[in-house]
Amino acid sequence: MKIVVKPNTSIKNKTGGWRTFYPEVSPQKCINCGLCAKVCPEGIIYKDEKAPKPYFHADLDYCKGCGLCAAECPVKAITMMLDNK
Ligand code: SF4
Ligand code: SF4
Repeated sequence: MKIVVKPNTSIKNKTGGWRTFYPEVSPQKCINCGLCAKVCPEGIIYKDEKAPKPYFHADLDYCKGCGLCAAECPVKAITMMLDNK
């Protein structure tokens, strides 16, 4: 039997309390290149069109804290912060 669950589609995919880091985006540094959205394995980075300056947001309920977005950002606009929840 093959079971495929797309990212960000089910409460079963929500990240538990085990996450160590989460990404924080600096709108001042972000150049809206979209690379972070392409590399995120969870597919949970999206563009907020309503923000004064559009930049990318992550749905932290599903973020696993892998740090790929921060590692690949060409202008280092994403900082991985310690998750103290
Ligand atoms: S830390 Fe990983 S899972 Fe979270 S938004 Fe960045 S790439 Fe996606
Ligand atoms: S990779 Fe960096 S600069 Fe590009 S959209 Fe994401 S946060 Fe902005």
